[in-house]
Amino acid sequence: MARYTGPSCKLCRREGTKLFLKGERCTSGKCAFDHRSTAPGQHGAARKKVEEYGKQLREKQKARRYYGVLERQFVKYYEMAEAQEGMTGENLLILLERRLDNVVYRMGMAASRKEARQLVLHAHFTLNGKKVAIPSLLVKPGDVIAVRESSRDSAKVKELAELLQSVVAPKWLDVDKANLTCKVLNMPERADVDFPFEEQLIVELYSK
Ligand code: SF4
Repeated sequence: MARYTGPSCKLCRREGTKLFLKGERCTSGKCAFDHRSTAPGQHGAARKKVEEYGKQLREKQKARRYYGVLERQFVKYYEMAEAQEGMTGENLLILLERRLDNVVYRMGMAASRKEARQLVLHAHFTLNGKKVAIPSLLVKPGDVIAVRESSRDSAKVKELAELLQSVVAPKWLDVDKANLTCKVLNMPERADVDFPFEEQLIVELYSK
């Protein structure tokens, strides 16, 4: 399965904003963007006038990188969003929020979406009682995500279970911190997306 394996902090500098891709490091004094926020590369510090297309492209890249989705998959989400009723941009963000790796991150069982993706790939979770290893799976109301019984004794999961205790999950997720489970109460709304995306720019980009 293809995925981006380059340096995460470079992506934040490219997008000119913190994308919170590295868990605890992002809120510590070690964040690379806090120390140097210019774009990577020899001419990264030069001021450039960004045209409309450039803004649209950057917004799309920002969303793609924030959720850790490759281009082809992102286009598929866009097509799904377009086919749904309502505003395409909002639909798109809601689809991305519903990804299983994002839910594992939002419930507090991982320090970053990247880590959540790894945990899902290594089959540490069940969905409605069945083992699952597909990070892109879209959850729906009524679904229950749980840490697998066989994973509960692993040192990593124990460490993450501690992290979970300090995380406030969004209101569309009901997290049982003692039992390491999470029930999806309803579909997420636009207000539940905790990043200030300008999704209309993404729609403009794909509508050309
Ligand atoms: Fe981005 Fe986190 Fe790296 Fe800071 S530490 S530059 S927020 S990935």
